[in-house]
Amino acid sequence: MKANCWMGRNTVEVREVPDPVILNSRDAIVRVTSTSICGSDLHLYDGYMPTMEKGDILGHEFMGEVVEVGSKVSTLKVGDRVVVPFPIACGNCTSCEHGLYSLCENSNPNAGLAEKFMGHTPSGVFGYSHMLGGYPGGQAQYARVPFADVGPIKIEDDLPDEKVLFLSDILPTGWMGAEMCDIKPGDTIAVWGAGPVGQFAVASAYLMGAERVICIDRFPYRLRTAERAGAEPLNYQEVDVLDALRDITAGRGPDACIDAVGMEAHHPVPAMYAYDRAKQAARLETERPYALREAILACRNGGIVSVIGVYGGLIDKFPMGSLMNRSLTLRGGQCHVQRYLKPLLKKIRKDEIDPSFVISHRMALEDAPRGYEMFKNKMDDCNKIVLTP
Ligand code: NAD
Ligand code: ZN
Ligand code: ZN
Repeated sequence: MKANCWMGRNTVEVREVPDPVILNSRDAIVRVTSTSICGSDLHLYDGYMPTMEKGDILGHEFMGEVVEVGSKVSTLKVGDRVVVPFPIACGNCTSCEHGLYSLCENSNPNAGLAEKFMGHTPSGVFGYSHMLGGYPGGQAQYARVPFADVGPIKIEDDLPDEKVLFLSDILPTGWMGAEMCDIKPGDTIAVWGAGPVGQFAVASAYLMGAERVICIDRFPYRLRTAERAGAEPLNYQEVDVLDALRDITAGRGPDACIDAVGMEAHHPVPAMYAYDRAKQAARLETERPYALREAILACRNGGIVSVIGVYGGLIDKFPMGSLMNRSLTLRGGQCHVQRYLKPLLKKIRKDEIDPSFVISHRMALEDAPRGYEMFKNKMDDCNKIVLTP
């Protein structure tokens, strides 16, 4: 089959690779009909996630048709249409039983590697480094889906792929980012990052009853998309974000702040940007945490900082004093996607949300190398790319 493979920093290549086969009785093989490129893939593309190997198949956002099932998968049959959540989860361990699917205790065969970096391991993830299991991803014609009796959700009506594909990751992620804010009527929420994840966080915050949602980025076309989801845009190259947020909130700061940027944040002041870039390149810190620092400083006393942007390791100049002295709550996580599939599919069916508004480009899987370049460099107003194998 054809698959999009990581070949080193800034290089992906669509190659011929062996077809996946059933390895365990709870596996299914899915023929991928739609897959997409995520901001999380850029962290791999840009070479910031350790334990990638040349030839690794990328992709953790995908859906398709079941073409084969293992002997213990009774919930799916050949021909079913499914969306596959990005965390691989067994459904039986303590974490899964508590709905913490991205912390499944049974799905990372390389747990020891992750423990060295993080103390304990999260779940395995499709196409996301050997530290997270070394699972081949879904930017391919076919994918093996472990624990297929737990993760994939069946799409039984004629909803098009583009309306349901993002259930695999970014829609539930934006939702969880807002959910972690404990939104109450009247709340003002600020979202750093007007990428697709930030845009879904904006939409979710409104659905949860926020009164005002401010979205921060530097790309006007992305801010416009966030505006269509209801956000008040803030361009950090035009205004000082902390000052602007104080003005908007009568000096108090937003009730909760969502970091939907993660480890590759940009800084408007070149010297500050260079500082974190240099430390990151020298491996003195693994992240450029500018948005996170700002989110902490901006948040009102006693407020919540919700981190859905991905971080890999260690950060420098973390404003711990601000967090502690002002009684902030810091929350985060890879999304527990499985927990949100049914309720969010229901909202899509009822037209409460149409996630396809984030799509800017559609391409064939073969064009993935061009897609990665476009998405990374925000060329041609690129917001979200759907690939068709
Ligand atoms: P993206 O790269 O398309 O968007 C990131 C946006 O952040 C860009 O528009 C960029 O201009 C903006 N940005 C950069 N520096 C900024 C700053 N200092 N202040 C404000 N905005 C800034 O990525 P995406 O697909 O939207 O994903 C966003 C983040 O969410 C990534 O880190 C990704 O890895 C993460 N993610 C997490 C989960 C999860 O389960 N927690 C799931 C999916 C994605
Ligand atoms: Zn993703
Ligand atoms: Zn589990």
